[in-house]
Amino acid sequence: MSRSVLVTGGNRGIGLAIARAFASMGDKVAITYRSGEPDALQQEGFLAVKCDITDAEQVEQAYKQIEEAHGPVEVLVANAGVTKDQLLMRMSEEDFTSVLDTNLTGTFRVVKRANRGMLRAKKGRVVLISSVVGLMGSPGQANYAASKAGLVGFARSLARELGSRNITFNVVAPGFVDTDMTKVLTDEQRTSILSGVPLGRYAQPEEIAAAVRFLASDDASYITGAVIPVDGGLGMGH
Ligand code: NDP
Repeated sequence: MSRSVLVTGGNRGIGLAIARAFASMGDKVAITYRSGEPDALQQEGFLAVKCDITDAEQVEQAYKQIEEAHGPVEVLVANAGVTKDQLLMRMSEEDFTSVLDTNLTGTFRVVKRANRGMLRAKKGRVVLISSVVGLMGSPGQANYAASKAGLVGFARSLARELGSRNITFNVVAPGFVDTDMTKVLTDEQRTSILSGVPLGRYAQPEEIAAAVRFLASDDASYITGAVIPVDGGLGMGH
């Protein structure tokens, strides 16, 4: 069965690996991108839709395009996210609110719009990409951690609100993954992070994608409101 899948921020990193995981099962996969050229993504078979999730109108237009091409979104993976790290005393209000606006409110925008079709269909799967940092905290990442922790309360509220409509809401909490987002870390920071990871290495994006694909599959039909860590053991106990 070929489902209509949307992965926000599916043009690179973890999002691209997730998009590929669904495409490999024959799903119709739409991805959003903000930057770069979508040609290569389109050649790969994705419907690439330009969309900044901080803009409600762009979100609405993206859904219209996707619905026309693939039908209503049946599986939504809210993956798009940003960091703007800074110690609290140097963190501006803009540093804080802009990260919240993308990671948390942006997720609200795309989830709310997807639910229109899911309610009509009386089924749906929503997976939110949080972070181990949202559960453990991290110095210099108060804005990011707050946004990622917020996703847990958001998903669990919706799991309760919409469970009777056969829509599941789950959260995947990756640890450190080899992508552009973590390339900015210094060797010293990398070594220090790895010392806390029982598996002793970063994740590959495909290892996050595997958990997301599972949560959207029939095998996960009775899982909702769950937070699945994919972090090499870094956050154990949270
Ligand atoms: P990248 O920085 O490689 O990619 C981020 C993606 O989000 C890009 O596709 C980017 O689009 C998109 N994006 C950012 N802001 C917006 C916006 N306003 N509107 C639409 N799209 C946007 O990050 P990763 O692949 O590493 O991260 C993906 C997700 O996983 C994020 O939510 C991140 O917080 C989370 N995560 C990552 C971890 C890691 O170690 N890498 C660990 C734990 C969680 P564009 O290319 O146009 O900028």
